[in-house]
Amino acid sequence: MTEYRIGQGSDLHVLAENRDFILGGVKIPHSVGFKAHSDGDVLIHAIIDSLFGALCLEDIGAHFPDNNPKYKNADSRNLLREAISIVRGKGWEINNLDSTIHAEAPKLRPHIESIRKSLAEILDIDTDKVSVKAKTSEGVDAVGEKLAVRVDCVVLLKK
Ligand code: MG
Repeated sequence: MTEYRIGQGSDLHVLAENRDFILGGVKIPHSVGFKAHSDGDVLIHAIIDSLFGALCLEDIGAHFPDNNPKYKNADSRNLLREAISIVRGKGWEINNLDSTIHAEAPKLRPHIESIRKSLAEILDIDTDKVSVKAKTSEGVDAVGEKLAVRVDCVVLLKK
């Protein structure tokens, strides 16, 4: 009998000058980037939290503490590789994941396919199991005022 577990994750990163704007391992040309201890890949961080959440394994900070110098400017793709290997080590596989990026700028539509492909490669699953959507916040809240980017993600695991 197939067992399923659902996991939810979200993250928000503040935007700052002289930082890269990286989503799902894809560097996107933009005037500002993410202020963070790691490379600031807010999409990958939300995905990692959804994976750990599905298995009641606490959160990204418990596994990769941001006061550990090892994770300073860390490539979040490596954190995601570690997270998925923990999930697989417990016998679980990703059924599918669905994410929403809340960003006022830049326009993300032209980058969605490369982000999906990048995530599918890191996770070693088919691209059709990885959904990435993007929307603005209509000019209000921290996202709308271009102060931050937020991501929500849900993942379904099966065993
Ligand atoms: Mg984060």
